Parts: sequence; C-alpha cells; structure tokens
Amino acid sequence: MLDRRQLLGWLGAGVASGALAACGQAEARTYPVRFSDAEWKKRLTREQYYILREKGTEVPGTSPLLREKRKGVFVCAADGNPLFDSATKYDSRTGWPSFWEVRRGATGFSIDYDVGYARTEVHCARCGGHLGHVFDDGPRPTGKRYCINGDALLFRPA
Ligand SMILES: [Zn+2]
Repeated sequence: MLDRRQLLGWLGAGVASGALAACGQAEARTYPVRFSDAEWKKRLTREQYYILREKGTEVPGTSPLLREKRKGVFVCAADGNPLFDSATKYDSRTGWPSFWEVRRGATGFSIDYDVGYARTEVHCARCGGHLGHVFDDGPRPTGKRYCINGDALLFRPA
C-alpha cells in the first residue's frame, strides 16, 4: 500500500521536475517575491542564502534567536513576511528555533526525502525560501514542532 503522503511527495516531485524541464525557472515563477539567483546572492548574507535558497541547515545551537525572549514577530529574512509570533515560540532543546504554530497562510509545505525518509518542508509563501521542517512531536495546543533555521528569520520586537 502506498502511503498517501509518500504518493503526494512523488507526484509533487514529478510535477516539479517536469515543469522545470519544460520552462526552466518553475519555482521562481510560483512566488510573488522573486529574484534571479545573482540578485538573491546580493540581497542575502552567505548564511541566509545557504538556508533560504539552497535548503541548507544551520549548525544546531548557533542561532542568536534561540535566546530571543521578547514579544514580537519572526519574519522571513528575505522579504519580511511575518511568519511566527513570539507567543508560539518554545524551547524544543533541538538547537533550532522552534514554534508550535505558524501564521495562517504565511508558509507553504512540500515533502522532501533529503535524509532518506519523508519530511514536511516549510517555506515562505512569498518568496519560496526554505525555512525548515515541521514535525508532529510539538507541544499543545497544536502538537506541531516548526523546526526553523535562525538564519532564515529576522526578529521584529513588538
Ligand atoms: Zn520570504
């Protein structure tokens, strides 16, 4: 039996590679905020580019945002899209900034197999930039753990 998420992942991958083959920059055309690769490199720091545009993962425990306790909102480092409210941030002890909820409509999701099994990848709904992953082992009330790279975020105090 095919797992539904797995099937959706395969279908998604097939559609994406087909679209890429057909018209090149498929991903760049999908999001309201879009720049060429060269422009992204100019606009972002090396660390931000690695996470947001290359789907990288920062070394756990290194983000200054782990210690951010003020009230405010965490926005996409690429375009300022408000993503996570400080009230939903918690210490997951993973070494990555973690949240139990995302602002409605702020992100999109896809399935990736980068580590050999299916994970739900989280990206900015405006620029498509990679943020991290979401897992089902978070705290109440949602039970979700948005495991987010600090380099993909900026903090705006309230
Ligand atoms: Zn963004």
